Amino acid sequence: MHTLRQQQLADNLAQVRQQIAQHCETYRCNQDVELMAVSKFHAADDIAYLVSLGQTQFGENYVQELLQKQQQLAQLAIEWHFIGPLQSNKCKEIAAVASWIHSIDRAKLIPLLAKHRPTTMPPLKLCIQVNIDNEASKSGVRSFEELVALADLIRQYPNLSLQGLMVIPEMHQQLSEQRRAFAQLSDWQQDLSQHLGIPLTTKSMGMSADLEAAIAEGATIVRIGTAIFGERPVK
Ligand SMILES: *Cc1c(COP(=O)(O)O)cnc(C)c1O
Repeated sequence: MHTLRQQQLADNLAQVRQQIAQHCETYRCNQDVELMAVSKFHAADDIAYLVSLGQTQFGENYVQELLQKQQQLAQLAIEWHFIGPLQSNKCKEIAAVASWIHSIDRAKLIPLLAKHRPTTMPPLKLCIQVNIDNEASKSGVRSFEELVALADLIRQYPNLSLQGLMVIPEMHQQLSEQRRAFAQLSDWQQDLSQHLGIPLTTKSMGMSADLEAAIAEGATIVRIGTAIFGERPVK
């Protein structure tokens, strides 16, 4: 027995997967694009149902909400991605449950995450958030120098694993304008890889409204909320 809600989730997920496949074909992706379902403000039941459809990667913006859902769904094979602003007093809790943190934006977080990552867990995967459009309302590093310093710091800790970069660009309507910020992130990723002497593999970019542009510019993880779950309920 499927509820209407489940049918809607299944349809939406299938459609997003198909769009990703289609864009990958159009733009000749040279690697798979991972789909992260951004479940903030949505019910644990919705998440459990998506897991039954093979979705394993989920993103949350608030530490308390992620911890609560992780507990409720502990028996399911979910990889949790933390994608929201991170306060230093939440590093301990998040380091114990997350597989990934995409929103690394300052040095202070790094030793705290390393200190609190349980030794029984694999290294915590990190992306550095880049404030590509220099927006006052958004976090993230704003200069390449800042980015290099943060990357060098992360690399000193064996239980932290730097994967790549994350970006939330300014909203634009035109595909060509959307692509510009993502292309710039790709350049920074390449330059940083060269500096470190290791190829960074992750570009965490693309949301419901700019999925195509992100894939066109080489996204490796897209973060999709609304297109899977529908509009978010007001908190
Ligand atoms: C909420 C959120 C998303 C998902 O956005 P949609 O437009 O609902 O797809 C992706 N990334 C981050 C960082 C978010 O906060």
